[in-house]
Amino acid sequence: MSERIGFIGLGIMGQAMAANILKAGYALTIYNRSSQKAEALAGAGATVATSPEQLAETCDTIIFMLTGPEAVDAILGGENGLLAADCQGKTIINMSTVPPAYSRELALQLESHGITVIDAPVSGSKIPAELGTLVILAGGPQAAISQHEAMLLSMGSRVIYCGEAGTGSGMKLAINLLLGAMMEGLAEATHLAETSGLATETFLEVVGAGALACPLFKIKEQMLITDSYPPQFPFRHMAKDMQYVVDQASQTGASLPIASKLAELFDPHAPTELLDQDFAAVKTLLKQSKPG
Ligand code: NAP
Repeated sequence: MSERIGFIGLGIMGQAMAANILKAGYALTIYNRSSQKAEALAGAGATVATSPEQLAETCDTIIFMLTGPEAVDAILGGENGLLAADCQGKTIINMSTVPPAYSRELALQLESHGITVIDAPVSGSKIPAELGTLVILAGGPQAAISQHEAMLLSMGSRVIYCGEAGTGSGMKLAINLLLGAMMEGLAEATHLAETSGLATETFLEVVGAGALACPLFKIKEQMLITDSYPPQFPFRHMAKDMQYVVDQASQTGASLPIASKLAELFDPHAPTELLDQDFAAVKTLLKQSKPG
């Protein structure tokens, strides 16, 4: 495989996803704002760029796995930003979760630099990222998505084409609304069981024994039993995504009563200690709340 892939954003997800691209045999150049996060992959054979500009000089296909729009803008702009390089003919695959309107604007803005943009956020968290079983939700030019499908499949089990620019991001918000509602529902039902004097383990055994069983609930089981929430999908990311969902609903006219409540519960201004935990820590919020 001669193609060199650039990967920017080596957080919880990016570390694992970039490692799988490398394992699949692609030449890989990486960049992360905090340089120490590049060390493990450098040890495994990736080349480390000192700036987004330097990375863009050697890679025609560049993946972003960043927090959100502010981070993407920071990587693109500035003195040693990606757009300081000649990017004519390159493809950017933005796998970060961002609002659909931002994805559409990004595609238009970068088109003027000769860049093709694919929005390709993922369904699945840290463990699917490590296993290479993410579901990749792709929006943008279908031919470009097909051209990169084999490489994308080094990180995921499926690439699902959603439509034109922004539709991958739109699909991701719909999925994360369901994810937030399912997690909050499980946390709330567990809280009721516990306050009713039922053993948490037994309640979760009942959930897992019947039609309600699902991989998400299984993954979060130990967190709910131990009330310990090491971040897989951080609370802060669900909080930002619920704000995107509510904004998106105000644009589409969708009536989403549960989403509005979730946007309050997953509060982006919550204490840092909570924001840094897994979003399953919503159960601790319920425990602290007054009845009502
Ligand atoms: P993360 O661990 O918080 O990593 C965020 C990455 O963005 C880091 O590389 C960080 O750099 C970089 N970044 C943030 N602000 C920046 C800025 N201003 N300039 C340059 N770089 C910046 O996040 P993650 O969990 O990997 O998630 C990444 C994206 O995937 C998010 O959009 C998230 O919503 C989405 N997602 C996450 C999960 C999950 O389960 N975690 C699942 C599906 C989708 P530093 O290391 O320097 O801070």
